[in-house]
This record gives sequence, C-alpha cells and structure tokens, in this order.
Amino acid sequence: MRYSSIKSHLKPYVIVARRRTTINHAFASAIAPSDAYSDSLVRAAVLVLGQDPDKDLACAYCGDPAQTWDHIFATVKDSRFSGHGHRLGNLLPCCKPCNSKKGNKNWRDYLAGLNLPDYDKQAARIDAYLTRYSTQDLLPQESPEYERLLQIKEQVMTLLAEADQIARVIRDK
Ligand SMILES: [Zn+2]
Repeated sequence: MRYSSIKSHLKPYVIVARRRTTINHAFASAIAPSDAYSDSLVRAAVLVLGQDPDKDLACAYCGDPAQTWDHIFATVKDSRFSGHGHRLGNLLPCCKPCNSKKGNKNWRDYLAGLNLPDYDKQAARIDAYLTRYSTQDLLPQESPEYERLLQIKEQVMTLLAEADQIARVIRDK
C-alpha cells in the first residue's frame, strides 16, 4: 500500500455514497425468487462442473479455491430485478477476486479475459451447467405492492441524502 492512499480517508464520510448500489441491489434481490436447497441436486450440479462434491470447490472461472458463489447473471439490471434469481442454475463456485473482477460482465467474456490454457474446457463445463440448470424468472408485474416497494426504496435514498446534509451541518459546527 502506498502512503498516499490515506487520501481517501482524509475527507468527510458520506452516508449515501456507494449505498445507492447496495440499496438497489438489496431491494431487487429481495424480490428475486430462490431455489430450495437440495443436497442431491447440488451434488449432481457440482459433478457437471467437473468437480468432486466431497472436496472443497474450485472457482469455476480461474480454478483457485472457491470462497463464494457468483451469480452468473446479475440479479439486478438498471436498478431492477433482472429475471435471474438466487437459483442453483445461476450460481457458480467462485473465488473472491473473480467475483469482484467479473462484476456484471458476461461470464464468457470474463473467462476469455483470464487467458487460461484450459479456457475451452472451462467454458464447456459452464455451458453444460447452464444448459442443464439455468432458468429465467418472469419480471415482477405491475402491482400496488411493487409500486409501494419502489416508493419505499426512493424514500430510503431521500432520507440518506437528508442525513448527509444534517451530518454536514453538525460537522461544521
Ligand atoms: Zn477465480
């Protein structure tokens, strides 16, 4: 770490900064459907990825030890639920660096960008996994409940922005 990185801490803390994304994500994630856990189904899915369900999993992209599950297709698009929920067919074992570097990139583009010697093999495994398990959910229909949920989200954003203004006043005193 370079000494100058302290710069990012030597300024007022902003409550709303970067929380917009977190809040959008939370609200969209909360209406995304999810699969129930099934031991036999997950074991079978791990085999499709060419991995041993009785061992620690490897990142489906780079092969390093997996530490999390990547949503293959982002749950949130344009601040709304994308139609890709918390489903077995939308989750891949993943290391944390790949999870954060991939972000919302297409999985195939991300994998190709890693320039691994066994790209074709990895891509074929993920393709097989998606063919077997991938599903797409319907987008939420317009309803009073959905409208109200979006209203609440806007209210949360507005309140956080107001809190920032008040915090600034308090700091300045
Ligand atoms: Zn990885």
